[in-house]
Amino acid sequence: MKIEVLRNVFEKNDQAAEQNRSRFDRLGVSCINLLGGAGSGKTSLLESLIPRLSSWMRVGVLEGDLATTSDAERIGALGVPVVQLLTDGGCHLNATLVQHGMESLLQSELDLLIIENVGNPICPANFDLGEHLRISVLSVCEGDDKPQKYPLLFKHVGGVLISKCDLLPHVEFDVDQAEADIRTLNPSAKLLRTSARSGAGIADAASWIRSVVERQPDAVPSS
Ligand code: MG
Ligand code: ZN
Repeated sequence: MKIEVLRNVFEKNDQAAEQNRSRFDRLGVSCINLLGGAGSGKTSLLESLIPRLSSWMRVGVLEGDLATTSDAERIGALGVPVVQLLTDGGCHLNATLVQHGMESLLQSELDLLIIENVGNPICPANFDLGEHLRISVLSVCEGDDKPQKYPLLFKHVGGVLISKCDLLPHVEFDVDQAEADIRTLNPSAKLLRTSARSGAGIADAASWIRSVVERQPDAVPSS
């Protein structure tokens, strides 16, 4: 019985995700779903990426959290439109919540909508939000065994940003091993070593995101 309920949840989510994706395609908006554990540095990466991305395209952000609006305030301070989605304890975003949240953001003409998912390395990976590109963040503070332990977070993503690389001299984290394990799960994923604090890898990450967005077809004329 419980299995049936879960399946319905996924089916309903997938329908809403498809609706979101066709809406994005109609409007010519690219959508990125940013995943990663709590404290992996998703918001800090966005703070360093968005100023670069904004010089090329119109960016909006949907911030997913359990509570508080602090991340939305950090992103809003960059001067881009942002909406905070609060899950009230829920451990992932789903496509229906995104559907409601993106409504006001889509009023401004965006080229790119970035969804920062709830900080959690597990279930957000199970929920399609209608995005075109998934990016995972893995910080060097989390341990190099995480690709093996949380394979779903790395398997179906376009790229992985290894974050907080400025801390590498201070932590036990074998980047080569972590990257090799990600490659085993996902041979085509773009892998980038980054640090929001030092700025390392940020220009490359921004250019890569730009190239993916620019490959996205323009708005589909509604007939
Ligand atoms: Mg955050
Ligand atoms: Zn969850």
